[in-house]
Amino acid sequence: MGIKTTAFGYPKIGPNREMKKTVESYWKGKIGKDQMLNILENLNLNRLQKVINADLDLIPSNDFSLYDFVLDISTMIDAVPERFRAIQDSLDRYFAMARGTKDAVACEMTKWFDTNYHYIVPELTGNFRLVKNRPLESYLWAKEKSGIETKPVIVGAFTYLMLSKVYQKQEGSILMEMVRADHSDKFGIFLMEIAKIYNKILKELQENGVKTVQFDEPALVLDLEDEKVDMLIEAYKVITQGIDNLEVFVHTYYESLDSFERIVNELPVSGIGLDFVVNGENLQNLIKYGFPKDKKLQAGVISGRDPWRINYKEVLDLLDQIEKFVDQDRIVLSNASPLFHLPVSAEAERGHLDENLIELLSFADERLEELKTLKQIINEGKPVPEQSIQSIRDRFKNEKVRELVKNIELQEVKRPHPFKERYKKQIEILGLPKFPTTTIGSFPQTDQLRKIRADYRKGIISQEDYDNFIKDQIRYAIKIQEELELDVFVHGEFERTDMVEFFSQKLKGFAFTKNGWVQSYGTRCVRPPIIYGDISRPEPMTLRETLYAQSLTKKSVKGMLTGPVTILNWSFYRKDIPKKEIAYQIALALRDEVKDLEKEGIKIIQIDEPAFREGLPLKKRKQEDYLNWAVKAFKLTHNTVKETTQIHTHMCYSEFNEIIEWIYRMDADVISIEASRSRGEIIKAFENFNYDHGIGVGIYDIHSPRIPSVEEMLEIAERTVQVIDKNLIWINPDCGLKTRQWKEVIPALKNMVEVAKILRKKYS
Ligand code: GLN
Ligand code: ZN
Repeated sequence: MGIKTTAFGYPKIGPNREMKKTVESYWKGKIGKDQMLNILENLNLNRLQKVINADLDLIPSNDFSLYDFVLDISTMIDAVPERFRAIQDSLDRYFAMARGTKDAVACEMTKWFDTNYHYIVPELTGNFRLVKNRPLESYLWAKEKSGIETKPVIVGAFTYLMLSKVYQKQEGSILMEMVRADHSDKFGIFLMEIAKIYNKILKELQENGVKTVQFDEPALVLDLEDEKVDMLIEAYKVITQGIDNLEVFVHTYYESLDSFERIVNELPVSGIGLDFVVNGENLQNLIKYGFPKDKKLQAGVISGRDPWRINYKEVLDLLDQIEKFVDQDRIVLSNASPLFHLPVSAEAERGHLDENLIELLSFADERLEELKTLKQIINEGKPVPEQSIQSIRDRFKNEKVRELVKNIELQEVKRPHPFKERYKKQIEILGLPKFPTTTIGSFPQTDQLRKIRADYRKGIISQEDYDNFIKDQIRYAIKIQEELELDVFVHGEFERTDMVEFFSQKLKGFAFTKNGWVQSYGTRCVRPPIIYGDISRPEPMTLRETLYAQSLTKKSVKGMLTGPVTILNWSFYRKDIPKKEIAYQIALALRDEVKDLEKEGIKIIQIDEPAFREGLPLKKRKQEDYLNWAVKAFKLTHNTVKETTQIHTHMCYSEFNEIIEWIYRMDADVISIEASRSRGEIIKAFENFNYDHGIGVGIYDIHSPRIPSVEEMLEIAERTVQVIDKNLIWINPDCGLKTRQWKEVIPALKNMVEVAKILRKKYS
């Protein structure tokens, strides 16, 4: 007997991003379908072998995907939008939904809860049917290939629907629009329909001798109204009807379970899974409400999101607590959230990362080891490993930084002069016209630039040659901006591959992996930096390029920094100090950079925060605290500048309404935001909130190669004029131009400058 273990969500991308390379080769026509499927099958077999080696009692299956596991469900239940129905081949249709074709735009893609994974949003119209039983196929496949019993894992019906959109008639119109399923009146009906299909899936699994299945239901950690909980419980009655020989686990993660008492007691399933690492709330609820004697507990005791090795003593203590409420033989130890948020192997970084740091790290492979070791300790009395986590952590400590950060909590952080006064002076000193024009920072990164950067990294090109090449690029960008008659210039960011990577490589306290890739969406992977120690700035990071650009022109060149909240939200970060303290540490390092830029004569500094909203906690009651410290961190970067130094920020998404007040409190002199994609929808936010700081709504959609006309950009700009003071409006694209080509950018910006000229004439 003893305790059992399971794990789920092991990364799909392969130790060297084989999945990406294979699928992309297929897309490019370099390999055929069979060859692709063959390579991927082997990759999946290797994954299976990894989990088998971890001596798990419940080995997962159905957790591989060619693109996205939510899309897998959509195609499984025939939730295929009309525009893709003409595509006969099911695999081609699958990829078309994810990526679009020339005839059919791709399905929307959005962030999966508060993670950096993006899923394909289901577009539901009803009429679901089971096209193929994926969990069963995967179970049978594993059995045939390895002769083992597995536990199929699949996103649960409730979560699937919560993440979907449904078509609904627009009010007072015959036009259809897509709305969030949980805000539509179809929610209950669709949930029952999908529940019936899930029931069919379970029945077939049961008939084929499957013993356990896991439904991932992270949506159960969101704030749920009672009515939703009622529907959830009703749905699970349907899902589990006639299922008496198959254990159904419902696993929840990323936050504590909502409506704990009701769901734990009333959900008609064999087991409930809880995330015990994200915070202490599930444990507190367990202590408060107990746990039903007839259910099993899948105890998520190791993180699938943070790359830190577990402290065995702490996990064993936690288990002691849990066992006061649940007998040991009813506990299944598990990772809390899925392992695909982690890179494959920390061991693979040996020789690249600091040896001490490697001792602290645990990626997916190490997580499996940890589970195995925990089981041996508990069931076989293996000694608890000696660990020196604290002493290693102490080596990464910077007392000075800690001291500075300690006081910030109590401090009021603000610029001494009110916006109105300082903005007036800034405009004068900068000599800016009405409707000033600028860009967001980056200019096209050409194939040649990418090649030279790669060669430089490989050591084929010398430092000097590389620096000269970057200088050439900057010179070219300045020349173009002069010709376009833009008002505020940028240097172009040619020296940066990625806006977070660039700074993380220059700051102390960050590590950068060689192969620590994580799936972001489909075949797209990112390599998040790891914040492991106290953060400081050993030397200036952006001065050289910015000052060089400024030396070439009389116009003002904007200094260009990535903000503290974005750097933090796009990195793995340490858990031994509060998240806000890390944000303050980064902010202080950036503030030094701001001060240096200012000292050297730079008059405008932009501090980008595109990931500001991303960090918003899943539970509403926690959002205010986040917004408070996030705003404070941003303000820390610029509260010491002179009143005549103009601070810009940039954010590029359209869901502004709910946080607009907080964005205002960041007190940037000018903000540039997305607008063109949402066709000026974002402007609505400003109808309800009097945003009286400088603002540039992006009128040029940089996400498309199309060159927007003067007329269409003017239309968006005119809509802003309706709601915002004309003296505060800036004219700019809606994001950086790095992914575009010069031949698109030049005519588009030319039209954009033309818009500003028309506005100036009309409104002065
Ligand atoms: N300054 C950055 C750029 O122009 C901003 C990128 C972003 O918003 N993601 O590339
Ligand atoms: Zn942007």
